[in-house]
Amino acid sequence: MFQGLTFEAVELPANTRALRDEVRAFLAEAMDPDELPNSDFNTGDSLAFSAALGGRGWIGMTWPEVYGGGGRSFLERYVVTEELLAAGAPVWAHWIADRQTGPLLLKFGTEEQCQRFLPPITRGECFFSIGLSEPNTGSDLASIRTSAKPVSGGWLLNGSKIWTSGAHMNHYVLTLVRTEPPSENRHAGMSQFIVDLHDKNVTVKGIRNLSGDADFNQVFFDDVFVPDDMVVGEPGNGWQQVMSELSYERSGPERFLSSFRVLVEYMREVGDSPDPGQQALIGKLIAQLVTLRRMSISVAGMLSDGKLPDTEAALIKDLGNTFERALPEMIRLQMPDGPSMRMLDTLNQCMLHAPSFTLRGGTREILRGMIARGLGLR
Ligand SMILES: Cc1cc2nc3c(=O)[nH]c(=O)nc-3n(C[C@H](O)[C@H](O)[C@H](O)COP(=O)(O)OP(=O)(O)OC[C@H]3O[C@@H](n4cnc5c(N)ncnc54)[C@H](O)[C@@H]3O)c2cc1C
Repeated sequence: MFQGLTFEAVELPANTRALRDEVRAFLAEAMDPDELPNSDFNTGDSLAFSAALGGRGWIGMTWPEVYGGGGRSFLERYVVTEELLAAGAPVWAHWIADRQTGPLLLKFGTEEQCQRFLPPITRGECFFSIGLSEPNTGSDLASIRTSAKPVSGGWLLNGSKIWTSGAHMNHYVLTLVRTEPPSENRHAGMSQFIVDLHDKNVTVKGIRNLSGDADFNQVFFDDVFVPDDMVVGEPGNGWQQVMSELSYERSGPERFLSSFRVLVEYMREVGDSPDPGQQALIGKLIAQLVTLRRMSISVAGMLSDGKLPDTEAALIKDLGNTFERALPEMIRLQMPDGPSMRMLDTLNQCMLHAPSFTLRGGTREILRGMIARGLGLR
């Protein structure tokens, strides 16, 4: 039966105004105005920037203080994230550890794992990749073939992951692995391992994308020994654990702000006298942006309340990715005469990354299937 979705209006608390000002002041100091900001959150990393952000308490903001976290709310975290992305800050090094690995360890990890990994993550010193996709296995994650068999004191891991963002610079990859042979229940028998990317039996090979950057990789595991204390949660429960990360992964402002810098440069470029076509375009893009932002803040409110808004998150990702992917092309068609090099460079960089916006983190088709199921239509 059809079930509707509700996005309750959530007001950002008054204390987030001062926090927003603080982040802006920090960014004005930390970022070089002559350097081109990222027009895709996925492309810029800086160890110094991540460490400076950690020093301000803006990584692991919602985690308990006992692990180095800030004990703050999801809405406060939202404001910091939004400002970082809107400014095009180089956040990529710590991004996954902050958004996904930390919350997952807090939920399923052992006390020892939390004590070991969370404090260095909050300091911006420890970085994680996500190891889900495999050659021939992206959308249909249940068919992964990377597997591990039990040995004395741990597991022996073999197989390969692909499209692993940041594996060439990160410390660990949180890897979904088959620990029991496939059975009738396709989702049973998988486990999550923390694998050291610097292990001598792990090989990381860069893959170039359209822009020529190699920010994702294929990662090979050849008889990698994974000690028992690097297994996250219950062996066999990996599927359920991975699924619980999805609301964090899919609803944030990074799912609609990837091309925001193009809009900023465009508005600077057309200045105070946009022609009617440019005015209409800016109005249309801002209207969509404001709507997406409101929906995304609403989901941050649900996460704050301990809910698991998977369908709402999938909807935001689908709408947001469609928006951020279309934006550079719409702007290209309404370019003023004689655009500056800064405008062109920002647009070019974004156009080369835009095809990935609707793939990474789950494709459009997969999201739409999930939304249909969540609405009771499948
Ligand atoms: C920039 C970028 C970064 C990434 N980073 C990571 C990462 O860090 N870690 C990681 O694990 N993965 C990562 N990925 C991989 C990403 O999650 C996969 O590309 C994605 O899940 C799709 O899988 P696939 O590429 O194997 O395509 P496929 O699953 O082979 O899909 C091919 C096409 O078929 C469609 N399709 C597939 N199944 C169905 C279906 N049942 N119904 C309708 N249509 C269907 C898909 O929508 C798609 O259009 C990244 C990808 C990109 C582009």
